[in-house]
Amino acid sequence: MSVAAYHEVDAAAPEAHPSLPTGVIIGGPLVRAKRVESAVLFATLISGSIVGLAWAFTQGLGWVEWSLFAIMYALTTLGIGAGVHRMLVHRSFRCDTPVKFFFCAIGQMACQGSLLKWVGNHRRHHLYADHVGDPHSPYVDGKGVAITGKLKRWLHAQSRWVFDDTMTDNSVYAKDMLSDPMVMFFTRTRWFWYFLSMVGIPAAWGYAFGGVHAMWGTVLFAGFFRAYLVVMTSVAVGSVCHQLGYRRFDETKDESTNQLVMTIVTFGEGLHNNHHRFPRDAYISHAWYEFDLNGLIIRGLEKLGLVYDVVDASKHHVNRTEGSRSAEA
Ligand SMILES: [Zn+2]
Ligand SMILES: [Zn+2]
Repeated sequence: MSVAAYHEVDAAAPEAHPSLPTGVIIGGPLVRAKRVESAVLFATLISGSIVGLAWAFTQGLGWVEWSLFAIMYALTTLGIGAGVHRMLVHRSFRCDTPVKFFFCAIGQMACQGSLLKWVGNHRRHHLYADHVGDPHSPYVDGKGVAITGKLKRWLHAQSRWVFDDTMTDNSVYAKDMLSDPMVMFFTRTRWFWYFLSMVGIPAAWGYAFGGVHAMWGTVLFAGFFRAYLVVMTSVAVGSVCHQLGYRRFDETKDESTNQLVMTIVTFGEGLHNNHHRFPRDAYISHAWYEFDLNGLIIRGLEKLGLVYDVVDASKHHVNRTEGSRSAEA
């Protein structure tokens, strides 16, 4: 039975599912603080983006605005995908302190909550993917109640889960992060990095290369609008890549998919079914048309000696069974 069908059967579940796993906090002051923080962050991103788009259409954009848009989109997409996701959550590779600091900085500048919260949520997603306990599945909500109806599924996975009255207990899912001084430093100072990403760096770039007018355009378009776009592409991995696309590995006990448009805009994270099958892999492409830019950058950094102990679990798995990586396709 598919996971979707499983949850249809489960549709009569009570408000909080009795088999909700440990480490899911429901209600209380911590959850209220989470909701307030999500609301402030999203209000900032959305209102800034609306003004940013209005500015773009009325004032126009030049090379100053577009160049920083491209640079910051690339850096923060790499930061969340290769840095926060593959380095911190899955320990796909190791690196020395300066490289780790760089990845943490550009990951925190992706404006997606603290590094600690991101790691805890994502590990819980992998453990219970599309089943009771998953924080952002399209098929089951934060309390483990089945979600019925296509629109509700999209809404929950794309945005509602950030505002629901549940949260991950990081002492259960991200204990190692709690004792990691660098991760906790970025977690404590996250609003500084959001500010740098949305305002500080764009303002400096715009003013330096184009004066006051370009400064406003760069802050609004390459700062706020770009930051919101990167947040939306990241959460879309959890919504699009559990509903649309193809499955290379049917044996995963979830609805994860590979989706090629998502793969391009997230630099490889859209190869999500490959990723659920081999979560620790640093390079997650299994075919020539699966373009994993984050993985290629990690491989490039490995060649330069800047990262090491790069995990390639699927290669060992395939070698044991078939003889080549692509043989499993
Ligand atoms: Zn997933
Ligand atoms: Zn993952």
